[in-house]
Amino acid sequence: MARLTIRVVGEHDDDDRTECTHKVTSVGKPKEAGCTGRTAYSARCSCGWRSAPMLRTLANEARDRHRRDHATKPTPAEAGAAR
Ligand SMILES: [Zn+2]
Ligand SMILES: [Zn+2]
Repeated sequence: MARLTIRVVGEHDDDDRTECTHKVTSVGKPKEAGCTGRTAYSARCSCGWRSAPMLRTLANEARDRHRRDHATKPTPAEAGAAR
């Protein structure tokens, strides 16, 4: 069974919703050069799935829901490999 990694990450408020790995203040203001600030969170899975940008608590819930989805149905990659 493929190992899935589902993470909740901070996002920049840019067109690509790039992941923010910078240090930010408690209100999401940037502390480092090159950071535009963290405006939202999303859950991201190694299967390619990604939630909409949302509050961190909601992203945690989306991550848990997605993990349950994987428990009940195989990923596309696994379905293809099973043949
Ligand atoms: Zn950043
Ligand atoms: Zn997934």
